[in-house]
Amino acid sequence: MYENIQKEAPEVYKALMREVERQSKGIELIPSENYVSAAVLEALGSVFTNKYSEGYSGRRYYGGCENVDTVEDLAISRAKELFGADHANVQPLSGAPANIAVYFALLEKGDSVVGMDLSHGGHLTHGHPVTAMAHLYNFYRYKTVKETGEIDYDEMEKMVLEHKPKILLVGYSAYSRDIDYERVRSIADKTGAIVMADIAHIAGLIAAGEMNNPTPHVDIITTTTHKTLRGPRGGMILCKEKYAQAIDKSVFPGFQGGPHENNIAAKAVAFLEDLQPEYKEYAKQVKKNAKKMEEKLKEKGYDIMFKGTENHLLLIDVTNKGVTGKEAQIALDKAGITLNKNMIPDDPRSPMDPSGIRLGTPAITTRGMKEGEMQRIVDWIDQVINNIDNEELLAGIKKEVEEMCLSFPVPGIKM
Ligand SMILES: *Cc1c(COP(=O)(O)O)cnc(C)c1O
Repeated sequence: MYENIQKEAPEVYKALMREVERQSKGIELIPSENYVSAAVLEALGSVFTNKYSEGYSGRRYYGGCENVDTVEDLAISRAKELFGADHANVQPLSGAPANIAVYFALLEKGDSVVGMDLSHGGHLTHGHPVTAMAHLYNFYRYKTVKETGEIDYDEMEKMVLEHKPKILLVGYSAYSRDIDYERVRSIADKTGAIVMADIAHIAGLIAAGEMNNPTPHVDIITTTTHKTLRGPRGGMILCKEKYAQAIDKSVFPGFQGGPHENNIAAKAVAFLEDLQPEYKEYAKQVKKNAKKMEEKLKEKGYDIMFKGTENHLLLIDVTNKGVTGKEAQIALDKAGITLNKNMIPDDPRSPMDPSGIRLGTPAITTRGMKEGEMQRIVDWIDQVINNIDNEELLAGIKKEVEEMCLSFPVPGIKM
């Protein structure tokens, strides 16, 4: 693999080969990550990267766009088919730029948005004070109900009635339950708010019919394409026809320059994969694996947030195990298990050393791991968390992890 890089750029090659090894030999539990197919990788590395194509299919500013038009049209029609959407824009460079393009399309400076609080699972781009967007617009953020683990729809309704936001935003990165889009719609309708769903994490599960589909109930959907959808790193906006023109103009020329057509070609490849029956089976297994991990972690006394999982991820407060999220992450890394430290709702600790860890099953399920492997992984996690300073034990587990991983090749990596 990668002979040309080896010849021309040996330092890059060395790091790349170490990364190939890391991805092959480790257990990847970061819920926003996945492994793309060899075909998606080929599209990403294709000559489409050489082409400028500002504008949209059939109305480009440059010549020679007939082939990029073909792949962009394919990506759009497949995206619409996956979600049952009226309109798709596949040019956003990633999830955050997709959200920003929507805000720019629909909001004036000083307008209000109601979205989900970061420590309850929301995303930075939903109005966290550190983001540039929070200086332009007024964000109000609802939380979840401790007793039920559900989104606090009553609080959401109060905020909507009080602040009359232009956008009511749902969607999350560290929350493990589904969303009642009908209820969200009825709340928004009380004041005429536009409903936006950011499905960056769960898009693949929605496309496969494994989670509620927001399309019939919301106006705008944003997503990444590299998480559960298992495509290239990128973003996408879906919307009702009514908003199509405003969204397209906002993405280009409003916010971005030339689209990355190699990336859009890879989206077209990934979306075709996502439409296959095998992908539906994959999405089912992602959920089954997460449920199995939940069951095993509960047996071992772990404090699962939001009363469990209905998707691909789990948020766990590790305080009762005598460690912080950061300590758990570092020790697990030494054992070949990658996940991320994460804030828990209203976390008393800091974002750099929070109380929780977040883990998910999209990547390991792509490798073909099933319930039996989930059991082994939870056993390893538990041993690590109970012995974070025992370097010998961590090294021993790393060996066992590597051995198991050998039987589950990563797509796109030839060893
Ligand atoms: C991951 C994520 C994003 C940001 O996507 P990037 O590609 O990292 O910019 C936005 N919203 C949600 C809910 C996410 O989970």
